[in-house]
Amino acid sequence: MSCDTVGKKARYDNYRLVRLKLKTQEHVEILQELEEQSDSFTFYGHALNPEQNLTILVAAHKIFEIQDVVDRYGMELVVLEPNIQRLIDEEEATIKPKDTPASEFDWDHYFHLETIFAWLDKQITENDFVEALHLGLTYEGLPIRGLKISKQKGNTGIFIEAGIHAREWIAPAVATYLIDQLIYSKDLAVVDLATNFDWYFVPVLNADGYKYTFEKDRLWRKNTKPYGRCKGCDLNRNFDIHWNTTGSSSKKCTYDFCGSSAFSEPEALAIKIFLDEHANKDRIQSYFSLHSFSQLYMFPFGFTTDRARNYDDLKKIGEKAVEAIKNTHGKIYKTGSAIETIYPNSGDSMDYVYTNYNIPIAYTIELRGPPDTPALFVLPAAEIKPTCEEILNSFIAALNEARNLGYYKRDEL
Ligand SMILES: [Zn+2]
Repeated sequence: MSCDTVGKKARYDNYRLVRLKLKTQEHVEILQELEEQSDSFTFYGHALNPEQNLTILVAAHKIFEIQDVVDRYGMELVVLEPNIQRLIDEEEATIKPKDTPASEFDWDHYFHLETIFAWLDKQITENDFVEALHLGLTYEGLPIRGLKISKQKGNTGIFIEAGIHAREWIAPAVATYLIDQLIYSKDLAVVDLATNFDWYFVPVLNADGYKYTFEKDRLWRKNTKPYGRCKGCDLNRNFDIHWNTTGSSSKKCTYDFCGSSAFSEPEALAIKIFLDEHANKDRIQSYFSLHSFSQLYMFPFGFTTDRARNYDDLKKIGEKAVEAIKNTHGKIYKTGSAIETIYPNSGDSMDYVYTNYNIPIAYTIELRGPPDTPALFVLPAAEIKPTCEEILNSFIAALNEARNLGYYKRDEL
C-alpha cells in the first residue's frame, strides 16, 4: 500500500475486493501459501477447507497475478468491488472534523474519538444517574472510557463492549445510540429497560486502533502494540478462554494474531480486571459485544461445537432479537452459536465472560452490512441510524424474552 500525496493516510486505489470459490484441497493449500507469503493480499478469513468462499482484498499491482492463479487452477473469482478506495473516499465526506463539539454529535455521521469522549463527558455531567467508568489505559496510553447508567438499586447489570475491532465504526455508533436512548427516550419499553437494569458501556475499547483508522489506515482491525516488524494484536483473540487453539493465529503479522499470551494486551486485560471486581458484586448477567459486519446475533461457543448449557434459551432469545430487527427495517440477521454461524474462533470476550463469570446471557452481534457486502466495514453513514434503531428494538425483544425465561431476578431489598 502506498501513501497519499501528503503522506498521511494509507490508500487503497484500485485495490480490488474479490471472492474466490475454492473447490479442492489443492486450492486450499495454494491460498494458504499466498496468505503466508505475500502481504499484497489481505485475507478476510483463512483458507481452511474445499467448498469454501474466501474474500480477499488484492493490491492493485497483484490483480493479474491472482487472475493467473485462478485460471491455472480452475478456481472461480467474482469481483465484489473494483476499487475499495472509492468507498473510503465517499465515506470521508460523512466524517465530522476532529474538533467537532459534543453538541453536534449525531447518528448521521462518523466521529473521531475526541468527539465521542466529549459526548460521554456531556452525558456524565448532565445526568446524575450516569457515572464515568475508567477501565485503565490502552497500549498508547489513551483512557479506556465507559459509563454506567443506574436509576435504582437492586438491578442486574448489562455490559456492552464496542469497538474492540478498530475498523468496525458502526459498533461505537450503536453503543452511543443505546446510551442516548436509555438516558432520553420517553418510549415506555426503553424507559423500562433503563430503569430496571444497570447499564455498563465501553463504546470504544480499542481506542488506539479506532484513532488509527481515522488518521492512518481505514481498514485496520487490531490494536497498535508493536510485535517485531508488524504491529497489533486481535484483542478478540486475546482473552483467556481456550487461547490460541482455533480460529486465531500465533503469527504476528496476521489480522487475527492472538498476542504473546492470554491477556498480553492492556485493553483485553482491562475488561477482565473490571469484571473480576464487578461481575458478581454488581450482578452483571448480560454481556453484548458489538462488531461488524455480517448481520449475526451469535452466542457461545466459538471454540467448540459443544452446546452452551443454556443453548436453547440463548437460541430463543436470539430468535426474538432477529425477529425484532426484521420488523424494524426488514433486515435479515441470523442467530446461532458463533461456531455454527460464522467460523471457529477462540480467545474472544463473549466465550470468556460466559465461562469465567457465569454470565448467562452473552452475545456477539455482527451489525450491518450483510455477509456478502462489497463495502466491508465501510458502512454508508446513512445506514447508521437504521442500524441503531433495529438494534435497540432487538435489545427490547431479547431482554424481555430473557425475563420471560426467568433470568434477571431482582435483589429483594
Ligand atoms: Zn469484529
